[in-house]
Amino acid sequence: MATSPISEANTSMFEKFSPVTGEKLGDWPIGSKADVDKAVERARKAFPAWRDTPLSERLKFMKRVGEVLAEDVDYFATRISEDTGKPPVDAIMTELLVMPLFIEYFEKTAPRVLDRKRVRNPLMLPLKKSYIEHFPMGVIGVISPWNFPFQLSVVPIMTALVAGNTVILKPSEITPITGDLIVELFERVGLPEGVVQVVQGDGSTGAALTESRIDKIFFTGSVATGRKVMAAAAKRPIPVELELGGKDAFIVCHDAPLQRAAKAAAWGGLLNCGQACTSVERILVVDAVYDRFVKLLLEEVKAIRVGPPSEDPDMGPMCFAKQLKIVEAHIKDAVAKGAKISFGGNEIEGDGQYFEPTIVEGVTTEMDIYLEETFGPVLPIMRVKSEEEAIRLANDHQYGLNASIWTLDVDRGLEMASRIEAGQVTINDILSSVGNPVLPFGGVKNSGIGRYHGEEGILSFTHTRAIMADYGRLSHEPFWFPYKGKYPEMSAALKAIVKGNIPRALLAMIRSR
Ligand code: NDP
Repeated sequence: MATSPISEANTSMFEKFSPVTGEKLGDWPIGSKADVDKAVERARKAFPAWRDTPLSERLKFMKRVGEVLAEDVDYFATRISEDTGKPPVDAIMTELLVMPLFIEYFEKTAPRVLDRKRVRNPLMLPLKKSYIEHFPMGVIGVISPWNFPFQLSVVPIMTALVAGNTVILKPSEITPITGDLIVELFERVGLPEGVVQVVQGDGSTGAALTESRIDKIFFTGSVATGRKVMAAAAKRPIPVELELGGKDAFIVCHDAPLQRAAKAAAWGGLLNCGQACTSVERILVVDAVYDRFVKLLLEEVKAIRVGPPSEDPDMGPMCFAKQLKIVEAHIKDAVAKGAKISFGGNEIEGDGQYFEPTIVEGVTTEMDIYLEETFGPVLPIMRVKSEEEAIRLANDHQYGLNASIWTLDVDRGLEMASRIEAGQVTINDILSSVGNPVLPFGGVKNSGIGRYHGEEGILSFTHTRAIMADYGRLSHEPFWFPYKGKYPEMSAALKAIVKGNIPRALLAMIRSR
């Protein structure tokens, strides 16, 4: 059973307001250090039995996750939409649809990836067998953000569970409804007691989790908090994975499919109100196609319908009121430094946290909108002389999460992709790599450390164990005592290995026994 270990009596609470209407939706308990420690102890107790549960059984629980979601897709999509303000179709596409893809991937891949593997020995070490195997770390602390509160919690939770760990989730205080939804999901899956627990709370709860007796921290959030998380992890020290922000470059080459690129920029930059780590945040367009591209983009953005989730809009309200203020500040700074607002640029008056889809032209490298993650419905555009300049700008930045390249010469696109300093690059596509569970996901530079999709992702929730076995038939080994008289043969063995003369090296070893 998934549980929330907080008893609400005598607990401080935080409030949750609707991004859609501004009305208060409820109070949630702030998990204390004692609550977190209690959860960790329960997770530690549950760990040995879960670790020893055959992988095939663990995978059956994951299959059940998919079934529960499919049984009640409307309920899950509606609750996520209520929590975040995103249109229900976004809730399905970006939060729920990936789950069956990951579950199928785990079923097909995890047995091979987690299996013990025999590996070769150097010829100098004959008569032995070497193996590599992976074992779970123990209790994983998952700390998730508010922008994709379901997906960015459940995918790491499932990956950790498949690898044999137990998990404690600390969801964002901005999206506690989804935190409760995740408790409900895993309760319905019927996991054993203590295998997945959710501790609601604020930053102090997250900090308590990072200081507790967990065995790894999987953190998704801002760079500022990521630094604190890493510092906390260094104290024990435990492994930490950081999925942080981005400022993704969108490079429009002279031979780009312009209509497709314009539609992709609008969707990739305004999806979820631009509140995505993988959002299009810097559009770099070569001079030769600049005017045509911007005209097409304007047409796309003008057609976007903004409204409450109940009206089936393209874009809902922003999820987090403070983020809206950051968006406003970035636009103000850009305008003060000479940028032009070609469309939008303002908060929409009325209830809820609505902001117009916005296009900013004339962006320069001195502006906050270029330097910092905006995380809002804004498309900043720069005119560049050439593809070379675009690559230089894409790389000359603090972030390195995603990038996309738009060219009909896919081979050239691939060459350009190999020069981009980012964890993911798409060619003539946007965000698609995130939806392929086979592809590793993560960033470089300030965008983070580690990868959590693909085989690397499964292994990132394990430690590696090396095993070497000897048949035990010989009474001793060439390397063992006594050393007397061995030096010349060992020296001959080294020289023979360097020359590739393995028989001579083996002979030297035998002689030295
Ligand atoms: P924050 O860093 O503010 O918060 C992330 C999580 O950390 C929340 O659950 C938060 O709790 C918790 N937290 C706050 N303080 C601490 C602390 N001292 N120790 C441990 N945990 C703490 O990020 P946001 O929620 O604002 O998320 C937006 C950011 O996430 C953006 O920068 C975005 O780019 C990034 N992101 C990265 C992704 C990736 O995969 N690379 C994907 C999606 C988002 P609380 O909210 O309760 O304060």
